[in-house]
Amino acid sequence: MTMTRREFLSASAALAAAPALGADAWGAPLPREADIVVIGAGAAGIAAARRIKAANRRVIVVEATGQIGGRCLTDTATFDVPFDRGARWMHNADTSPMVKLARGAGLEVYPAPPGQKIRVGRRNARAGEIEYFLAALVRANRAIDDASRGKVDVSCASALPKDLGDWAGTAEFMLGANATGKDLKDISAIDRARALERNNAPIACRQGLGTLIAKLGEQIPLALSTPASRIAWSGRDVTVETPAGRIAARAAIITVSSNVLTAGNIKFTPELPKRALDAAAKLSLGSYDHIALQLPGNPLGLARDEIIIEQSNSTRTALLLADIGSSSSMCSIDVGGSFGRDLAAQGEPAMVAFAVEWLTKLFGSDAVSAVKKSSATRWNAAPFALGAMSSAAPGSQASRKTLTEPIGCMFLAGEATHETLWGTVDGAWESGERAAEAALRRIGALRDPEPAAAPARAPKQRRRVAE
Ligand SMILES: Cc1cc2nc3c(=O)[nH]c(=O)nc-3n(C[C@H](O)[C@H](O)[C@H](O)COP(=O)(O)OP(=O)(O)OC[C@H]3O[C@@H](n4cnc5c(N)ncnc54)[C@H](O)[C@@H]3O)c2cc1C
Repeated sequence: MTMTRREFLSASAALAAAPALGADAWGAPLPREADIVVIGAGAAGIAAARRIKAANRRVIVVEATGQIGGRCLTDTATFDVPFDRGARWMHNADTSPMVKLARGAGLEVYPAPPGQKIRVGRRNARAGEIEYFLAALVRANRAIDDASRGKVDVSCASALPKDLGDWAGTAEFMLGANATGKDLKDISAIDRARALERNNAPIACRQGLGTLIAKLGEQIPLALSTPASRIAWSGRDVTVETPAGRIAARAAIITVSSNVLTAGNIKFTPELPKRALDAAAKLSLGSYDHIALQLPGNPLGLARDEIIIEQSNSTRTALLLADIGSSSSMCSIDVGGSFGRDLAAQGEPAMVAFAVEWLTKLFGSDAVSAVKKSSATRWNAAPFALGAMSSAAPGSQASRKTLTEPIGCMFLAGEATHETLWGTVDGAWESGERAAEAALRRIGALRDPEPAAAPARAPKQRRRVAE
């Protein structure tokens, strides 16, 4: 029996088996030298490496885990439809390079349903209730936007209108835990307002977003299961140590998450500047997880890709994405923020129990009686991610810019370094391209853009001197 590369990747993900250290995706030994070394094969790392390769420079990506994708990871082994264990939605369909690349690679992309259903207990919300909720969301967003223009950067929670009534909890969940993995009290109003600049028309990949990133990384020289353990750097060059050996390069791009950076798992010689570490700490990752249940026969009676939320007055709530991708009756219950963090810390059985309890509350016990299979993600415990997506603590939005400053010949990339698309795959991708261009410029492989030509001026009239 032959195994395709994709089957190999998903099997190794499912079994968490570690392939031989230092072997690249095609089994070649780790090179000793490169022009630029990229740490991490998530969206940012793959985007950076593709840009460097396109500039005909030698690049090598070292990746700690056994697969490409980072926080984009498609599990094709557990259910009979692809299950995106991390990111699922891309943004900005008209301009996103990833959406174009997905189409070019023959993958199917499709838009998210335009709205979501809302349950009020065991019934669907009435038209008037939905209208009231949507108006509450608009008011909440506007209040956060207004607060972001104040002198002091406050928390989103403190900016929220106090009269959202029965919908306050749902609005908080949608704007906080569900959108960013943190509760609104922990998020900077300026950071959140900048995110409002996104074109919010999500688009997904039928084969999985992890499948897409893995496909886009296919031609890139990379070493899986090869964690960078130490990086010695200066303004001139850099040496990356891994268990499989050292790589010397003229520049490095580091795409690990803000939590991985501050956890100190990679040692830097000399140490990273305090300014960069402080900035990363202020952009810590929120908590977001999927609890996937297979409910044969679609007992919830929901349509393909339907999204359901509930009217809730507590953080103990979730978002349901139904019947993902086909008629296989798999649905994902998403939890986030402080509630999601506490729940995930209790382990997978507690997460599945909550999902069943929550669905029973909304749809009745008969609907949820026959869970055939289940699987829950626990991103906070994933050692090379340590969380879901970054958001700035109140007062800390400027930290994103700080993280884009070069450190010797090292450049940080990843979603946390993007000023508006933070927390997203698109932001990660763009940040990788930006860092690659900066690194290429640093090694002289790209010229600085010519300064804009000064507008032509009429020659000054020479003062006539008396003859
Ligand atoms: C459950 C969940 C749902 C999400 N949903 C969405 C969504 O729908 N839409 C969206 O846009 N975003 C979503 N996100 C966020 C999105 O996944 C991230 O913003 C994005 O994937 C980050 O990409 P990155 O390249 O910056 O970082 P990562 O994907 O974290 O890549 C960094 C890579 O570095 C590797 N690494 C770490 N340490 C080392 C080391 N020492 N040596 C070598 N390699 C190392 C990691 O293994 C990883 O592969 C979601 C995230 C989660 C967890």
